[in-house]
Amino acid sequence: MKECFTGFCPRCLKETELKEINAKENIKVREEIFSVPVHYYKCSSCNEEFMNLNDPVDPLDTAYRLYRKKHGWLQPEEIKNFRKSYNLTQKELADILSLGDVTLSRYENGALQDAAHEKILRTAMNPQVFLNWIEQKPEAIPDREKRNVIIQQIRERIDTSMNTLYWLDWEKTDIIQYSNKNAIPLAA
Ligand SMILES: [Zn+2]
Repeated sequence: MKECFTGFCPRCLKETELKEINAKENIKVREEIFSVPVHYYKCSSCNEEFMNLNDPVDPLDTAYRLYRKKHGWLQPEEIKNFRKSYNLTQKELADILSLGDVTLSRYENGALQDAAHEKILRTAMNPQVFLNWIEQKPEAIPDREKRNVIIQQIRERIDTSMNTLYWLDWEKTDIIQYSNKNAIPLAA
């Protein structure tokens, strides 16, 4: 798709005829190729191609997202949401996981994580494991009161996930035979 309009060319330094170009570009991410949409402008006068820095779609970011999706990896906002769900700072979570806080910050902002770090982050999302890690490294959350609140929160999550498993299991073992006038409603 090509559309022309008059706009300012950063090379000609004047108003010229610009073409708006929407195309696909192959971007290599760790030896794998991903086809991503790119959006740029081309000056009809000097042929310079340039992107709008305010363009919300960043091709490299899109390629990283495709890579993570293909491999079933966490996206930046999932990492951030996990941290925020426990009200942890980047430094605190990074210390618990033995990652640098700069590294964690980069991941939350879209850098592609290492395979080893992906594994650590994914493992941390198991509340039982996460609780063990915090108990082994309490100094990662120096504020004792905050630490206790978080530990409590994790314990509640463990209880919830165990209850969920229990109910699921129950459903599987044919709840019908237990069902009578006094049956406990399954989906409360
Ligand atoms: Zn130009």
